[in-house]
Amino acid sequence: MASNRTLTMIKPDAVRNGHIGGILEHINKAGFKIVAMKYTKLSAEKAGEFYAVHKERPFYQELVDFMSSGPIVAAVLEKDNAVEDFRKVIGATNPAEAEEGTIRAKYATSIGENAVHGSDSDENADLESNFHFAQTEMFA
Ligand code: GDP
Repeated sequence: MASNRTLTMIKPDAVRNGHIGGILEHINKAGFKIVAMKYTKLSAEKAGEFYAVHKERPFYQELVDFMSSGPIVAAVLEKDNAVEDFRKVIGATNPAEAEEGTIRAKYATSIGENAVHGSDSDENADLESNFHFAQTEMFA
């Protein structure tokens, strides 16, 4: 059965550009319930850990530098079929290829600085939620 939770981050570019409110409204209108949320900043070490799967990719250091460059909003979102549905709501990794009306089409500036994160599998949604939140910080 598909999990009903996914993990998102509003990335440093979107925070810097004043899009926290717009993105949260988009998320709510798309039918997701926020079950955990925090305004925080990743150290380079924590950003590296979060994106460890991309360690061998040429953009890894750029990604770690960007994700630790300023505050983010991390949140756990709940909805039926959350992972897949949220990937549709955020759009393609490269905003130039993101469908009109998606969060990345509206708020992202480049393939690296692409406004939001969304988990890509149920397993990662679980791991990433536990990366950012204690069980006592998630509310059904
Ligand atoms: P996502 O699942 O759509 O976020 O995409 P990926 O898992 O493929 O990549 C993770 C993140 O790495 C992306 O959201 C971007 O922030 C960053 N990224 C991916 N490709 C590139 C790239 O070619 N250049 C740079 N600078 N960053 C990238």
